[in-house]
Amino acid sequence: MFRLDVSMAVFLYVMSSLVIIFFLWIFFERKAALPQFVREEADVWECTICAYTYVDSTHHEISQCPQCKSYNKKLPEERLV
Ligand SMILES: [Zn+2]
Repeated sequence: MFRLDVSMAVFLYVMSSLVIIFFLWIFFERKAALPQFVREEADVWECTICAYTYVDSTHHEISQCPQCKSYNKKLPEERLV
């Protein structure tokens, strides 16, 4: 049997606890699903007056341009590309 002083015992106890916590962390983190950040294309507006492109998710039909303050109707989807 090998000799074990107090500092070595504390060191082994702390290190084994940290290793167990680390592997538990890795195990549960692999299960967690990361949130998907999907931006809707409908939120992107292009001003018909000043051609400023901005994002407005609060309005769906008519939005006000933050740069020139003019109102814009929703453009067809193919013109936003
Ligand atoms: Zn504008």
